Amino acid sequence: MRIGHGYDVHRLTDGRRLILGGVNIPFEKGLLGHSDADVLAHAVMDALLGAASLGDIGKLFPDTDPAYEGADSMLLLKRVAELLEERGYAVGNVDATIVAQRPRLSGDIPAMRENLAKAMGVEADRVSVKATTEERLGFTGSGEGIAAHAVALITEQ
Ligand code: MG
Repeated sequence: MRIGHGYDVHRLTDGRRLILGGVNIPFEKGLLGHSDADVLAHAVMDALLGAASLGDIGKLFPDTDPAYEGADSMLLLKRVAELLEERGYAVGNVDATIVAQRPRLSGDIPAMRENLAKAMGVEADRVSVKATTEERLGFTGSGEGIAAHAVALITEQ
């Protein structure tokens, strides 16, 4: 067994869609980024890549590469899962936390779990997603951005 950790932050801005775990969430702002800026998916990918010592998504999908402009992070996650599989690893489980003051995300969490699990080719019960606020403190508390943490356990086949 191997474990990995991922962390990501994106800035909230006007005129962008808010996509978390592949779910399009109605909100007055969205996350800024080269891809769809799905901060949750990015943290999960970095946790998986970290567990396999395969670097990070910045190395795999550079934001200087036009191929990844507006990219669907669920497709990138699928690619990461395939990469792990090619190296003989299987996803054990993933646990992630979204840090956001707003919007309220609890209703969207089941769909996020389903989307992440589907992209990784595992059952949804292997994927946990939680959401918390930081009590109005710091950049998440002020609504400047959203952060996500993830840990992943992978097994050598
Ligand atoms: Mg990112």
